[in-house]
Amino acid sequence: MTDLAHNLEAVQQRIAAAARNAGRDPQSVALLAVSKTFPAQDVRAAHVAGQRAFGENYVQESVEKIDALADLRASLEWHFIGPLQSNKTRPVAERFDWVHSVDRLKIAQRLSEQRPASMAPLNVCLQINVSGEASKSGVAPQEAARIAHEIAALPNLRLRGLMSIPEPETTLEAQRAPHRVLRELFDALRASGLALDTLSMGMSADLEAAVLEGATIVRIGTAVFGARAYSH
Ligand SMILES: *Cc1c(COP(=O)(O)O)cnc(C)c1O
Repeated sequence: MTDLAHNLEAVQQRIAAAARNAGRDPQSVALLAVSKTFPAQDVRAAHVAGQRAFGENYVQESVEKIDALADLRASLEWHFIGPLQSNKTRPVAERFDWVHSVDRLKIAQRLSEQRPASMAPLNVCLQINVSGEASKSGVAPQEAARIAHEIAALPNLRLRGLMSIPEPETTLEAQRAPHRVLRELFDALRASGLALDTLSMGMSADLEAAVLEGATIVRIGTAVFGARAYSH
């Protein structure tokens, strides 16, 4: 087995163990392999090992990678998870299957306008700031309901759920707290009539905490591809 195949297997086992601890079906948690800063050939190798969904953070890098892997396009799912400026939405709207990092209405409106009619609606998550002043990105929880209902009304998007990037914590209990905040907000939005099915939360260091609190997508970079060089 290659290192990459071994890492993917180990992460799937972590997900399955956490799901069992939570009394959840392991199949209810999807692994998004975060390939930012890693070359197209690593995505190709992960695909050979059976991985299908990949997360990217940087527009230019991801466009090059998606185009280099065009031969696999039908069996890959691309998720944009990084900060998105309004003047960079078009290549994302034209190439990705999902955007997790929608953090204002204007971004959602542009993605909807720029989504090609020939493509399926773009799946989006609203990014929520669950760490208060410690974090700059994401919508404040009190504003989430209004913005979520506005996004849900846009024609070429499909609002799937919520995403967050909490501040790093070291204990399981401290890691669970912000994920619980996101899940409670998710439950409240569903109760208000939004048909949401996705909680995008949990990274390499806190995936167990996220699965215990209800994550349906965990975004895993380091534990799959290894440490990043941060060349950006
Ligand atoms: C880089 C990144 C990840 C993956 O982080 P790891 O700690 O390497 O697993 C997940 N989500 C977002 C938004 C990221 O930018």
